[in-house]
Amino acid sequence: MGIMPFIPKILDPVPGGKTIVNMVDYVVNWARANSLWPLTYGTSCCAIEMMSSSMARYDIARFGSEVFRDSPRQADLFIIAGTITERMAPAVQMLWEQIPGPKYSIAMGACTISGGPFRYDNYAVVRGAEQVIPVDVFIPGCPPRPEALFHGLLKLREKIMKESSRNVWKEGALSESEERNRYKEAALAWAELEKIKDEEMALAREQFKTNPPENYVPYKAVRVQKETFPEIERVNIQTQGKSVEELFKIAETYESDIKIFDESSDILDIVVSKEKYFHLANSLKNDENIKLDYLIDITAVDWNDHFDVIAQLMSTKFGHKVFLRVALSKKEISDETKATSILASLESLTPLYPAADFKEREVYDMFGIYFENHPDMRRLFLDENFKGYPLRKDFTHPHIIPKPV
Ligand code: SF4
Repeated sequence: MGIMPFIPKILDPVPGGKTIVNMVDYVVNWARANSLWPLTYGTSCCAIEMMSSSMARYDIARFGSEVFRDSPRQADLFIIAGTITERMAPAVQMLWEQIPGPKYSIAMGACTISGGPFRYDNYAVVRGAEQVIPVDVFIPGCPPRPEALFHGLLKLREKIMKESSRNVWKEGALSESEERNRYKEAALAWAELEKIKDEEMALAREQFKTNPPENYVPYKAVRVQKETFPEIERVNIQTQGKSVEELFKIAETYESDIKIFDESSDILDIVVSKEKYFHLANSLKNDENIKLDYLIDITAVDWNDHFDVIAQLMSTKFGHKVFLRVALSKKEISDETKATSILASLESLTPLYPAADFKEREVYDMFGIYFENHPDMRRLFLDENFKGYPLRKDFTHPHIIPKPV
């Protein structure tokens, strides 16, 4: 802020003072408009175009904006490039708050302006950056090309050149307004929430360390020196895998009452009961003839009357893949609370595959299926206070708006 807001008060009453104030305005605006330093921040695909604008072909340095800053405290331009999700919105507000004034913002691309193609049927996308922070320039496009970004930058420069030190600078003016406080409060509340989450997470980790689940096998990182890398003969592992029939025969030796979900599939799709799911996964992982040592994914399907949870396993030794599928019946719950309740549970695969951690949390977050013995069973993408489970058939949300026909 400095003394700029006070200069008009000092000089305006002096004869000819207005001319001096105008000159000061011109010089300050010129300097500011020609040295806009954007924050290094992008939320999705539009950011790729923003990045290319700083490369040699487009060269944003021509406009004095080559210095993309890593810290908001050193930036004065916030180019929001891409979709803003509800979860990300507080972080956007917080970054904006951390940029010292005078500061400017550009909303780049359809998603940033209005939610873009994700505006409809979507509970998770903010419908425009202006819901979150004040915006100076909007650049339409999906994505806008670097030339369009430069056009927006030039428009912003025009806007800055019209600013006057007679007005309080942007930051000061906005800090008094309710809108501005709303952003600030939201940012502070979010920071507070993050602190609580950090503390809870530290506690959960501590509890897990001191009292791990019985069958938990801690993962040991192995550091390999480059010089001591063994010479490995590279083979195409896809050609080494066992056939669906062979794999099923081996699986049957561990659990007799399993069946194949899709006979015609090239990949073995085993249906196993909830009680035998963990045991079978454990056996298939450790059997030297099948060696399913890699968890590719865990996902779920809501079939209305029941859920399917599917773990996709692979052998890095042989290259074959297996789906483990469990049908989980839904708990009987009254209609009012059903959509916001956990309706099924299953044993966690984290003791066998540490990678199951986030994948099971995602299934929990999206379907409300609880994983027993999971070290950190919390939502992954959505806020803890979020009501409902978005990939369930019973999910509704006020933010879902139907596409106009
Ligand atoms: S406007 Fe288009 S390019 Fe930009 S973030 Fe949205 S979908 Fe991606």
